[in-house]
Amino acid sequence: MEFSSKLLENAVYEVSQLPGIGKRTALRLVLHLLKQPKEQTTRLAGALVSLKDQIKFCKNCHNISDVALCEICANPKRDETIVCVVEDIRDVMAIENTNQFKGHYHVLGGKISPMEGIGPHDLTVGSLINKVKEGQIKELIFALSSTMEGDTTNFYIYKQLEGLPVKTSTIARGIAVGDELEYADEVTLGRSILNRVPFENSFKT
Ligand SMILES: [Zn+2]
Repeated sequence: MEFSSKLLENAVYEVSQLPGIGKRTALRLVLHLLKQPKEQTTRLAGALVSLKDQIKFCKNCHNISDVALCEICANPKRDETIVCVVEDIRDVMAIENTNQFKGHYHVLGGKISPMEGIGPHDLTVGSLINKVKEGQIKELIFALSSTMEGDTTNFYIYKQLEGLPVKTSTIARGIAVGDELEYADEVTLGRSILNRVPFENSFKT
């Protein structure tokens, strides 16, 4: 792509670094922004900078939060003895939408993926194991997407928990293999949490 302006080229380059945005879409978005009043672009840039500067992660569950302890963890009506293990905040939002789960979450921040060079230490697995060792948690529900990386992550955590007095379960697979949680409809996802199965059953054939 040939640009008549270095400023335009830079802006297009930065926007095209976002997932799912190619150079042509980036150009369209940048030209759109250029037509907007300056205040709008300033607000957009400001929102992104504040997000990066001020965002916090809940010290208990690692969910994105504006305060040190997120609303879910701070809510005394939620059951802290049942913890749903998810990949990221999108899964928390999807499960919250079902209104079927009243426990806590633990946000891993990704899945173990040797292909992408993501190991357990890049995730919040250690803090999850520590929480289990502290003895408050009675049940962990694995709710990662049913991909190879999701299964690897579940199994890794399961192995780390060996000998600890915690029940492990996995959401029932009304959700098809390979589906991401955020795409599952609320009824299916809600049901799959209620009909969860002991984790051991999920890999015994
Ligand atoms: Zn939290």
